[in-house]
Amino acid sequence: MKKIENYIHGKISLGSSSEYLSVDDPSTGEIVSEVINSNKDDYNNLINSSIKAYEEWSKVTPLKRSRIISKYKELIEKDLENIAKLVSIEHGKTLDDAKGSVTRGLEVVEFACGIPHLLKGEFSQNVGTEIDSWSIRQPLGVTAGITPFNFPAMVPMWMYPISIACGNSFILKPSERDPSCSIKLAELFTEAGLPDGVFNVLNGDKASVDMLLSDNRVQSISFVGSTPVAKYIYETSAKNGKRVQALGGAKNHLIVMPDADLDQAVDGIMGAAYGSAGERCMAVSVAVAVGDVADQLVDNISKKAETLVVAPWTDSSSQMGPVISKEHKVKIENYITTGVKEGAKLILDGRNIKIQGYENGYFVGPTLFDNVTKDMQIYKDEIFGPVLSVVRAKDYDEALKLVNDHAFGNGTSIYTSDGETSRHFTTHSKIGMVGVNVPIPVPMAFHSFGGWKQSLFGDHSMHGTEGIRFFTKLKTITSRWPKSIQKGPEFKMPTN
Ligand code: NAD
Repeated sequence: MKKIENYIHGKISLGSSSEYLSVDDPSTGEIVSEVINSNKDDYNNLINSSIKAYEEWSKVTPLKRSRIISKYKELIEKDLENIAKLVSIEHGKTLDDAKGSVTRGLEVVEFACGIPHLLKGEFSQNVGTEIDSWSIRQPLGVTAGITPFNFPAMVPMWMYPISIACGNSFILKPSERDPSCSIKLAELFTEAGLPDGVFNVLNGDKASVDMLLSDNRVQSISFVGSTPVAKYIYETSAKNGKRVQALGGAKNHLIVMPDADLDQAVDGIMGAAYGSAGERCMAVSVAVAVGDVADQLVDNISKKAETLVVAPWTDSSSQMGPVISKEHKVKIENYITTGVKEGAKLILDGRNIKIQGYENGYFVGPTLFDNVTKDMQIYKDEIFGPVLSVVRAKDYDEALKLVNDHAFGNGTSIYTSDGETSRHFTTHSKIGMVGVNVPIPVPMAFHSFGGWKQSLFGDHSMHGTEGIRFFTKLKTITSRWPKSIQKGPEFKMPTN
């Protein structure tokens, strides 16, 4: 059985813990490897390395850091197919999907290459007579990130390239469900010339997370995962005096106005609702059909969704793979049963799907509910599977109220051909990431990613300028050089 260990001080480190957690291939239901559940000794070994590495790394000039990150980018590009395969094996998503996610993560690495420019401070001359003032941003120290299963390469890349570019050392605690690609990403950074210990990987479950949260040598925590855990991370980190950004769950609404291009809206909804088996924090899980567009919208989605090829990633025709675990499959199926009991109209039922040769895989077929209402559990909760709920709204005002009243505030989108509606929506929706005629408005690396309400706890989103601010402390210097304190020979003013 393949064993996945920690990555400490530039190499794979055999831990002293004897406890290992199993890692499944969701397509077959078989255990493919085991990952170490680190103990206190393993943690101490790792944190000592991170502290030591920070002392030297923070002195390396931003330009030199940028060159190493540039080299790292090249190495990831060369190995992209292999990294994507590691994602697909342990997560189950299609290979194209996995490659796309690594590419999106790589964009943050590319952004981090610009660190000499991004760290340029502000300067004011003569804030008082012969007094100058300037601001600089300095690294925090040892920083840490805790990441979810659904994007095992991309989500860590929202954090560590920026933290490291800013001069910090970084500890990654990846999801225990799909930890392999973190080790690969760390190995490539060492190959690119990153000094040992600047990027360490700590494997394990809640116990590993708690060691990070309670250690006052760790200056900041970046978290992405479910809302209850995000809240716990936020509260515990804040109580322990750490800087924290904790991104949580989502229930993203896509509004289809009667004047929308219906074909474009349906195409967008297909990828956004069922891509990656709905296990994306930016997945569309609610389609709000406004006015008389509803019947046609439901009919068109249903016709397309029933033709989706559900298959393991090894089948090149696959458009949708399995969900992450047996427990998660059961949870999603229970939600479908709940939806039926609550009175929603089940148009497509993804329960009991059988894939020949993969009967033990964790597959759930595309599922579509119509006539979902806001008091239903399937509307309120994040299901995180290929389940789309259609809610009918009589007009735009009712649709906007649905979006704004929901507890989550990650992403939303509107399909319309009217500029005024679009402008009103982008201004008045209480959501962090908003799309107009695009289904998944994921910001590029040079902008910042993050939601509102129950989707983000903390003050900073990830990457872009927000990322630079999160991973650095601001220092403002005020400097005065009166003649009376000058010790050297007197300065003679030029005559012209
Ligand atoms: P999760 O919250 O179960 O786990 C995330 C991380 O937290 C993992 O590393 C895990 O080991 C750790 N963890 C789990 N339980 C813990 C506990 N009780 N105490 C301390 N640490 C704990 O999330 P998941 O199931 O891996 O991922 C899916 C969730 O992530 C979904 O809710 C999804 O919406 C969310 N997500 C959000 C975003 C975003 O940008 N907002 C992006 C991706 C995923």
